[in-house]
Amino acid sequence: MSITKVLKQLGLNAKDLKGGDLIARSPIDGRVMAKVKSDSKASAVKKIARSAEAFSAWRAMPAPQRGELIRLFGEELRAHKEALGALVSHEVGKIVQEGLGEVQEMIDICDFAVGLSRQLYGLTVASERPGHRMMETWHPLGVVGVISAFNFPVAVWSWNTAIAIVCGNSVVWKPSDKNPLTALACQKIFEKAAKRFGNAPKGLLEVLIGGREIGEVLVDDKRVALVSATGSTRMGREVGPRVAARFGRSLLELGGNNAMIVCPSADLELAVRAITFSAVGTAGQRCTTLRRVIVHESIKDKLLPRLKKIYGNLPIGNPLNGKTLVGPLIDEASFNRMQSSLKVAEEQGGKITGGQRVKVKDCEGGFYVQPAIAEMPGQTEIVREETFAPILYVVTYKKFEDALALQNDVPQGLSSCIFTQDLREAETFLSAQGSDCGIANVNIGPSGAEIGGAFGGEKETGGGRESGSDAWRAYMRRATNTINYSDSLPLAQGIKFDVG
Ligand code: NAD
Repeated sequence: MSITKVLKQLGLNAKDLKGGDLIARSPIDGRVMAKVKSDSKASAVKKIARSAEAFSAWRAMPAPQRGELIRLFGEELRAHKEALGALVSHEVGKIVQEGLGEVQEMIDICDFAVGLSRQLYGLTVASERPGHRMMETWHPLGVVGVISAFNFPVAVWSWNTAIAIVCGNSVVWKPSDKNPLTALACQKIFEKAAKRFGNAPKGLLEVLIGGREIGEVLVDDKRVALVSATGSTRMGREVGPRVAARFGRSLLELGGNNAMIVCPSADLELAVRAITFSAVGTAGQRCTTLRRVIVHESIKDKLLPRLKKIYGNLPIGNPLNGKTLVGPLIDEASFNRMQSSLKVAEEQGGKITGGQRVKVKDCEGGFYVQPAIAEMPGQTEIVREETFAPILYVVTYKKFEDALALQNDVPQGLSSCIFTQDLREAETFLSAQGSDCGIANVNIGPSGAEIGGAFGGEKETGGGRESGSDAWRAYMRRATNTINYSDSLPLAQGIKFDVG
């Protein structure tokens, strides 16, 4: 679908797309798609104020009714799936299937949130005092600030928003300045749902357009009860302490350095397929991208030639072409970072295959690369860093304990997996002595999570959890209530404090 048609179908008009200061460029060919107006600090503060007002009204709406708004939003997303998916491809260079997949993920989380809107359960607690009842109630939290990364321009925002809204919060979204168009399109789609819903307060979803200085407004504003920030560890290092300094809450979803352990008993066919999807899909630009293969030394020579053959035949090109599997990097800076990491890897003893720029017809302004495989003498410093590009480091191991140690010996802790048919290895990997990541899989690659589970990771990945399971609790505040229905006033712990 052409960009003009896509923008029209999504209701973005000339006013949204012309004359602004923020240039929306397509990574497909470097073409300027639009010039969008960014927010000033003053307009950002105004939007946060509007959001705080919306919160005051929205928190009083019964949760199942809040769920109805998200149900309608899910319906609108179904109706706009193709156009929004195409816009994701145009704006961040994802292949068609992955663009559509992102929107499907949005639809899935809406369905999940609708069900959740009737299940925001609290516990009842046994009181130690006669004639007393204790319980927990969950209440809306406030304005939820969502800061998102370029590589999941819509799905990650929707994980936060669908849950935050059914939990009774308002949302202020600061998307990456590399994808203002998908954000504006999502806002239009949300507004359609809100119009059908009828009485959603104005300002329930505000969008702030701009870079980190606009994100900082959100980070520093005391009215923003929770800042859910997705992006690099560098960003998290800045955002986390700033939010904490004002006693706000933050939910951090940061960089990963995800590994696969391939054991001697592994089904190599499955492993190769999983490696390929996880390492080269999204051109290596997923937080869960496979970056390290830790393979048993006895099977390296079976695995690597097979992998290199597949790498040699990858369809790299325009992501709008249905046959393409590897689209462009987001921009030139990303390409340069990849090249410098490969150079360092070589200096650290790596043997590199691939990594060079690939020219794509009619897309000369885009940065396409041949995904790289770097055979390393060990887990050197560069292997322990996240380079947000398709570089797959391969190291070998002798003993299973060594493989586990290598898997965990990186600063990040997002996703991990093991390919084995040995029950002991699989269960050890999942146990307390096993993978230290937020996601640990067996015979499945590290990327492509379902929305039903809680998503996030440990260590420098930030510790946040969002999406499914009980991640909703981060978007609410818990109150512990004790009710005395007796005619006396016993104190806890049996304390005597008699007056008169
Ligand atoms: P980035 O850190 O450059 O930017 C992310 C967002 O943070 C953008 O919206 C940016 O404007 C904003 N930002 C940056 N500094 C800020 C500050 N000081 N205050 C407020 N806002 C600030 O990341 P990116 O290049 O867009 O995305 C790639 C990174 O994101 C990778 O490291 C990837 O692993 C990570 N990521 C993590 C997850 C996850 O769930 N763990 C998901 C997607 C991406």
